[in-house]
Amino acid sequence: AYVIAEPCVDVKDKACVDECPVDCIYEGDRSLYINPNECVDCGACEPVCPVEAIFYEDDVPEEWAWYTDAAVEYFNDI
Ligand code: SF4
Repeated sequence: AYVIAEPCVDVKDKACVDECPVDCIYEGDRSLYINPNECVDCGACEPVCPVEAIFYEDDVPEEWAWYTDAAVEYFNDI
């Protein structure tokens, strides 16, 4: 799945939401989240993010790697 990391926090531009063909990007309190159970890995969201917050799960920078787990937990909790 694709993952939204730190640059989205308190930005939440939502350009990605308009691009996602399966509507799997959801709004949290301070950041948007991609539901990893619904993401079809199309990659459409990644280039439209104005703050480059979106990465394929294998390409998330190390310091933001925990965002991958945070997304899993976010959707487990709701
Ligand atoms: Fe949606 Fe595609 Fe981005 Fe996954 S990669 S969140 S399916 S736009």
